[in-house]
Amino acid sequence: MIADDEKDQLLRFIFSEYGIRGEIISLDSSWLTAQQNHTYPEPVAEQLGQALATSLLLSATIKFKGSLTLQVQGDGLINMLVAQATDHQAVRGLAHWQDEASDNKPSSLFGDGRLIITIKPDQGEPYQGIVSLEGDSILDAIQTYFKQSEQLKTRLWFAVNGERAVGFLLQELPAHQGDTDGWQHVEVLADTITHSELLELPPQQVIHRLFHEEAIRLFDPQAVKFQCDCSKEKVEASLINLGHPEVLSILQEKGTVEVDCGYCNKHYNFDAIDIDTLFSDAPNAPAPILH
Ligand SMILES: [Zn+2]
Repeated sequence: MIADDEKDQLLRFIFSEYGIRGEIISLDSSWLTAQQNHTYPEPVAEQLGQALATSLLLSATIKFKGSLTLQVQGDGLINMLVAQATDHQAVRGLAHWQDEASDNKPSSLFGDGRLIITIKPDQGEPYQGIVSLEGDSILDAIQTYFKQSEQLKTRLWFAVNGERAVGFLLQELPAHQGDTDGWQHVEVLADTITHSELLELPPQQVIHRLFHEEAIRLFDPQAVKFQCDCSKEKVEASLINLGHPEVLSILQEKGTVEVDCGYCNKHYNFDAIDIDTLFSDAPNAPAPILH
């Protein structure tokens, strides 16, 4: 049984002696919210759960203010998947998949896919890294990414079901690169964790179960929540971006302009007067083209 205050939690710890960091993330109500209004097939939900957990684990390994986004593009069962976490442990995400009932049902999850990691600091330039999804799993791609780009030993473990998405990360600290003995020791211990333990135990107990004989420094847990930063203003900005003629043609066809947020399913509705006000107020709005 997991107490409420042990849910939706990020727990960080350090093996000072070995120079290894660890993190466990558990998504509970945030995971339920992410699945609300979507009927994800099980393999799609599993990858989305892993991606949401990963975005939080990775954003906690780097000191920055802003957002970290994992985006999968592929031509397998999953054509698009996005998971985004902020430095405040707010997470959101969604996935698009091909209809499994179609005649040419894709045989793999991602096909010829790639994983794009974008770090967008509040201030400064965004940074992007790309890895191919050859192993057909986000887990493999992330481990490859760290091997190639940071040359840091990194291991991840995941367990996802309908109620929880749990991720566990071990990573060597840059200053301790190459301390193989310590890494192997910790990795062997960590590899004894099972799926059901990750799903059934609170993060603190996972750490105790694996590392009770090790000297570790445990940080205060941080709360994790599902949060979408969509707003009327952002939707208006995207409509202005679309251009007045395009928006007018939607208005003529449907009578109103309706926009649903893909992340949180929030509904935005604009009638003719709203649209008229929007474009007459908009600075530098492109002038309507008269035919
Ligand atoms: Zn939203």
